[in-house]
Amino acid sequence: MVATDMAVNADLKALIELQAADSRIVEIEREKARLPEAIEAMRQEVVTSLAEYDAASRQVELLEARHEVIRRERAEEEERLAHTQERLPNITTQKAYYALLKEVETAERALASLAEEGSRIDAEAAELRAKLVEVKKGMVGEETLFEERKAAMEAEFVHLDKELETLRKKRQKAVAAVAPKALSSYKRIASRRAPLVVVEVRDGRCTGCHILLPPQLYVDVKRNDRIHLCGQCNRILYYAGEE
Ligand SMILES: [Zn+2]
Repeated sequence: MVATDMAVNADLKALIELQAADSRIVEIEREKARLPEAIEAMRQEVVTSLAEYDAASRQVELLEARHEVIRRERAEEEERLAHTQERLPNITTQKAYYALLKEVETAERALASLAEEGSRIDAEAAELRAKLVEVKKGMVGEETLFEERKAAMEAEFVHLDKELETLRKKRQKAVAAVAPKALSSYKRIASRRAPLVVVEVRDGRCTGCHILLPPQLYVDVKRNDRIHLCGQCNRILYYAGEE
């Protein structure tokens, strides 16, 4: 902005205000466009955790089903073993006796192997259940954080809308204050150079395209008493005072 003690051509002053409003409007529109995406990205984090939780839950269910099968197989095997053992005292021949003993041994080995698999599954399921508890805790935290951040972003959205409303009023005021000819210049330049139309000269350069201005133009622009355009980018130039 131009130093307050400087006399500035009225059109130029209004154009500088118009530019300030337009630049901020562009910034706000950009920020507003970014917010829904940011919210969606945060939602995805929660969704991913939920998918992990569901996958682990299904794994636990599968283990439980397998465990149930093993429990039944063990019961059947135990029953078979009991029958075999009941028959032992009634055996008369040695050959039949040894055959039966072999059956007992086989059944005992099968039982031991089933018991081993059962406890392995138990351990695995217990580990997964513990993990599920942890994941659940994390999810509750993530959801809370998501809701908080989402609310903050939505509040920011409302805030930006209010600012936008104020800026549009400022813009209207600036537009009303500019002579029609100057305003049509602004619109013409904006059609190619938006959002930057009115730019400061600093250290002898146009801050729009950074070209070094001819010395006489720089001197003229510094007076701020009429509208000058940059010879290269055609933007409207003004002088804001020394830093
Ligand atoms: Zn320029």
